[in-house]
Amino acid sequence: MPIVTEYDTIAAISTPPGEGAISIVRLSGDQAVKIAEHVFKGTNLLKVPSHTIHYGHIVDPETKRELDEVMVSVMRAPKTFTREDVVEINCHGGIVPTNKILQLLLAVGARMAEPGEFTKRAFLNGRIDLTQAESVMDLIRAKTDRSMQVALNQLDGNLQHLIHNLRHDISEVLVQVEVNIDYPEYDEDEITSKLMREKAVEVQARIDALLSTAQQGKILREGLATAIVGRPNVGKSSLLNYLLHEDKAIVTDVAGTTRDVLEEYVNVQGVPLKLVDTAGIHDTEDKVEKIGVARSRQALAAADLIILVLDASEPLTAEDQALIKDTQDQKRLVILNKTDLPARIDQSELAALGVKEDPILTSIKDQSGLAAIEQQIKDLFFGGIENRQQDILVSNNRQIGLLQQAKASLTDVISGLDAQMPIDLVQIDMTACWEKLGEITGENAPDELITQLFSQFCLGK
Ligand code: GDP
Ligand code: ZN
Repeated sequence: MPIVTEYDTIAAISTPPGEGAISIVRLSGDQAVKIAEHVFKGTNLLKVPSHTIHYGHIVDPETKRELDEVMVSVMRAPKTFTREDVVEINCHGGIVPTNKILQLLLAVGARMAEPGEFTKRAFLNGRIDLTQAESVMDLIRAKTDRSMQVALNQLDGNLQHLIHNLRHDISEVLVQVEVNIDYPEYDEDEITSKLMREKAVEVQARIDALLSTAQQGKILREGLATAIVGRPNVGKSSLLNYLLHEDKAIVTDVAGTTRDVLEEYVNVQGVPLKLVDTAGIHDTEDKVEKIGVARSRQALAAADLIILVLDASEPLTAEDQALIKDTQDQKRLVILNKTDLPARIDQSELAALGVKEDPILTSIKDQSGLAAIEQQIKDLFFGGIENRQQDILVSNNRQIGLLQQAKASLTDVISGLDAQMPIDLVQIDMTACWEKLGEITGENAPDELITQLFSQFCLGK
């Protein structure tokens, strides 16, 4: 794979904004070392061996003013993240000093990197494929250890290899067909169509297996939208507080999070729950109760999981019954809380109202039954894939959509063959499948898609 050096040299701050012990300013491109050397006082960076770190100072060449004391890593192509020359300047944390160094680099010839541009170069220079690039983004946003494991598997190229193998098998069949079309006198039509059918069925099964992982993959990636519902005073806030307790809360930097549509993430046994409309929960006793309820209704409809809380120490009310009915078609946990008090709800009443789930008996006050809630959440979503951490999970809509299209092309291949269509027409559908799979890895992806995909990255990645 030749190294592309036609790109200009880019620079960005690669550590998150804000106060930190150190910040890193990263340069990539064939002028990276030269630009760094221009503002660096210390060893001559142009002469140092690759992959070495050097102590010195950043100095403005115009004013001769010292900006910061730094450690500079010099990494020459091709064994770098972008496959270009890369320089990383470790400077003292803080927004102002770090920005000054970046400004200086821009003044002496670097260009400000666009979001995701370092990763984009790694892709364009052939170091990683699109599924790996996407996994870089997933890693940055990983919400639990499991999300991270899936992203790491993908970064290792596991999905890439799988797709690559599928494409390889399809192209072998396509070559066979080509031979057959070129030499019709062989009269191998029947053998070819039999081979093609077998291959289409087999590849379709492998695509199906991948697609079946999509739901879990998506949950790991995006979180499971969860709504805690129940009438006032049943214990929703108490449950929420338990879930948000200590190490369970996940800090995110999702943009646009407002107080109005509050979203909080918690890690329950490796399942990232996205608790929706927690504001609605806090508000119910408030005078904005009405707004809260309307909003809760919406959140409820959009939720992947409903946690319905009932107060076992009071008879079921009309409101309880309405909520039971409203949520009956959704994935749901039914919690019978306050079991430390004398019971006023009989479980047979729930059955009579059509509740199929076994209710989980809890006393949040006594901290009992809470482990059962966590276990049920885990079982509901990861029961089948408990010990499959090495497995490949398809996790984003782009990949899922393309797999579905590839699968549809194979359905056309099979029905075409069954209808005795000429083999060169069937070949078109088989080729379409091959192309769709190529879009997943980026071997066959349109430019605008690549641009759009990388623009979703954070700055400096
Ligand atoms: P929400 O209105 O549904 O959010 O309910 P809260 O979580 O605010 O709880 C309402 C009241 O019930 C509070 O006084 C809680 O301390 C109390 N509570 C919550 N869970 C339990 C429980 O399991 N047992 C008892 N006895 N009281 C509870
Ligand atoms: Zn970010």
